[in-house]
Amino acid sequence: MASGKLHVRKGDRVLVLSGKDKGKKGKVVSALPEKNKVLIEGMNIIKKHAKPTQKVPQGGIREMEAPLHASNIMLICPSCQLPTRISHKSITGGKKVRSCKKCGEFIDK
Ligand SMILES: [Zn+2]
Repeated sequence: MASGKLHVRKGDRVLVLSGKDKGKKGKVVSALPEKNKVLIEGMNIIKKHAKPTQKVPQGGIREMEAPLHASNIMLICPSCQLPTRISHKSITGGKKVRSCKKCGEFIDK
């Protein structure tokens, strides 16, 4: 099987299932299929020490989002608003789209 198939994509709303942001909902800002990880807006904030620069000679602490493993997040269905698993359905032309296992609505338009 080809690597890099995530159940979520950029722009999806997701629920965090574990970690310090457990139970929070956010939007996927980027998917990293090769790492099986997803970056979610405002989630999993880590503090990173910034190296001193000419502008900030003393350095500092920068806050940034760290990617979460795809298995720790669940897609929120845009139709029924529930966290759900997805199934892949083929539509005309052999194209595969994701659909919600709870309400059956297509997630991809
Ligand atoms: Zn649904």
